[in-house]
Amino acid sequence: MFLTKISSTFYKTINQKIHPQESEEKGNNNSSIKDCLICCSNVCDSVLVPCGHGGICNDCSIKLLESGKDCHICRSSIEKVLKINSKENVVINTTVVENEIS
Ligand SMILES: [Zn+2]
Ligand SMILES: [Zn+2]
Repeated sequence: MFLTKISSTFYKTINQKIHPQESEEKGNNNSSIKDCLICCSNVCDSVLVPCGHGGICNDCSIKLLESGKDCHICRSSIEKVLKINSKENVVINTTVVENEIS
């Protein structure tokens, strides 16, 4: 699975890799990696499914998922957490919550 970056905190999952517009990426690389919105110390490398919001690190996103909390941006319920490579926009790992809240 691949991702397309809509904004610094919003991704969309796609099945085919879309090459980013390289002219825009050049000289703008440092601003694409930001600190986690929650802990402010780790690099943000995770995307919440299904809403597609990111901007948080894998530790914080898994904590949200496991504690049954909602997306920090849009308050949608979280089904999965994708760990991504933010430079390549590729999904590295998927975390799914196992105990369903009824
Ligand atoms: Zn964090
Ligand atoms: Zn969201």
